Amino acid sequence: MSIDSLFTPGLVAAQQPQWPGGATGPQVTKAVETLRKLPPLVFAGECDSLKERIAIAQEGKAFWLQGGDCAETFEAATADSIRNRIKTILQMAAVLQYFASLPVIKVGRMAGQFAKPRSSDTETRGDVTLPAYRGDAVNDLEFTLEARTPNPDRLVQVYNTSSSTLNLVRAFTQGGFADIRRVHEWNKGFAKDPRFGARYEQMAGEIGRALDFMASAGVDPEAFKTVDFYSSHEALILEYEKALTRIDSRTELPYDVSAHFVWIGERTRQLDGAHMDFASKIQNPIGIKLGPKSTVEDALAMIKKLNPSNEPGRLTFITRMGATQIREKLPALVKAVTESGAKVLWVCDPMHGNTYEAPSGYKTRKFDDVLDEVRGFFEVHKALGTHPGGIHIELTGDDVTECVGGGEQILESDLATRYESACDPRLNHTQSLELAFLVAEMLRDH
Ligand code: PEP
Ligand code: MN
Repeated sequence: MSIDSLFTPGLVAAQQPQWPGGATGPQVTKAVETLRKLPPLVFAGECDSLKERIAIAQEGKAFWLQGGDCAETFEAATADSIRNRIKTILQMAAVLQYFASLPVIKVGRMAGQFAKPRSSDTETRGDVTLPAYRGDAVNDLEFTLEARTPNPDRLVQVYNTSSSTLNLVRAFTQGGFADIRRVHEWNKGFAKDPRFGARYEQMAGEIGRALDFMASAGVDPEAFKTVDFYSSHEALILEYEKALTRIDSRTELPYDVSAHFVWIGERTRQLDGAHMDFASKIQNPIGIKLGPKSTVEDALAMIKKLNPSNEPGRLTFITRMGATQIREKLPALVKAVTESGAKVLWVCDPMHGNTYEAPSGYKTRKFDDVLDEVRGFFEVHKALGTHPGGIHIELTGDDVTECVGGGEQILESDLATRYESACDPRLNHTQSLELAFLVAEMLRDH
C-alpha cells in the first residue's frame, strides 16, 4: 500500500507554509523523498506501549506530565539545553509521583517540536512586512526576506536535529542520569533554597525519608535507575508527518514514526480538514487541543472520527481554556464525554489560554494564572468524579525570564533580562519545580 493513498486528497490543510514552488513543487518533493528513505525516529512498538500507559491513566491510575519548549530551535539543541530540560521534567515527575502515589508518564515537547501555527501569516515592523516565523522547520526568526522565506530543506534538518536530540534523551534516561535518588538530590537542593524553596522543604524531606527507608531495607529496584521518556510534538507540517508515516511490519498498520505522541492544535483541528484526516489514519496515541470555543458537539464528533472503536489510550484531550474560563467551560465537555462512555485522557494545558502582552511588548504569562487554571481543572474533575489526568507545560531547564511571578518574583520589568523563547514564554527551571510541588499538593488532596 502506498502511504499517500491512505490520506483523503483535496482537503484543506490550515497553517501550512507558502513553500517556494508549492507543496508539490520540486524543492518540497526532494525533501520528502529524502525523509522517506530515512529510518524511523521512534518504533511503532514504543507508540503502543505509550498507548497502554495512557489507557492506565484514563482509568485514573497514572498521571501525564508533558513539557518542553513552545518551539525548539536548531541552535538550542545542545547537550546542556537538552539535559536541563530532561532534568527539569524528571524533577517534576519525581515530586508528582510521590504525592500522587501514581506512576507518571513522562513526555517531552521535544525532538520534533519545530513548527508553529501563527495567528497572522505576516509580521510587520515599521514599513516592512515579511512572512511570519513559523518555527525552524519552515523559516528563520531573523527579520529579513531571505531568512523568512520558507525553505523545505529545513524539514530534513528537523529530522536530523530530532534524531540527535532523541539519541541524547535515550542516553540520559537509560544511562544512570535519571536515577530517582539523583533526581531527589537535585530537588532537595532546590527545596532548601530560602528564596523560594523553604515551603517545599518538608515535602522534599518526606520523599527523602521514603527513599532512605527503602535503601535501609535493601530495596534497590532496577526501575529506580532508568525511566521511559516519550517524545511528542504538534503534527503541523503535513509533508513532514506524512513522509515519516510508515507501515509497521508487525501489525501492517500506519504509524507516524516522527514521535511517540502527536497532537493537533487548536488552529488546525477542523473536523473536515487535512490534519484531522491525517490523525485519523495513524495508529499513534493522539492529542487534540480544546480551547474555550470548543463545544460538546465538537468533542463528540472528534471522538467519533479519531477513535470510533473506543480503543483505550488512543485519545487525549488537552484543554487550554484560560484561568478565567476553565471553571465555566470545562464541565460541560467532561460531563458529555464521560456520559458518552468514550475513553479519553483529560490533560490541562495552563499555558495557551493565559498569554498576554506586557507593556514592554514581550509576550508573557503569569505564574499565578497558570497555577489557577490547573486548580480550576482539578476542581472541575473533583466535582464530576473524573480523573484530572495530567498537565502540559511550556518549560525550559534554564533560568530565563519569560513568565512573571513565582517565588523568584519575576516582574514585567525583568522580562528583558533573559527572554530567549523563539515563540511563547516558558516557565523557567525554578517556576517549573514550584508548579510541580503545588500540583503535587492538589494531587495529594484530590
Ligand atoms: C502550542 O501548544 O504551542 C500551541 C500553539 O497550542 P494551541 O494549539 O493550543 O494554541
Ligand atoms: Mn506555545
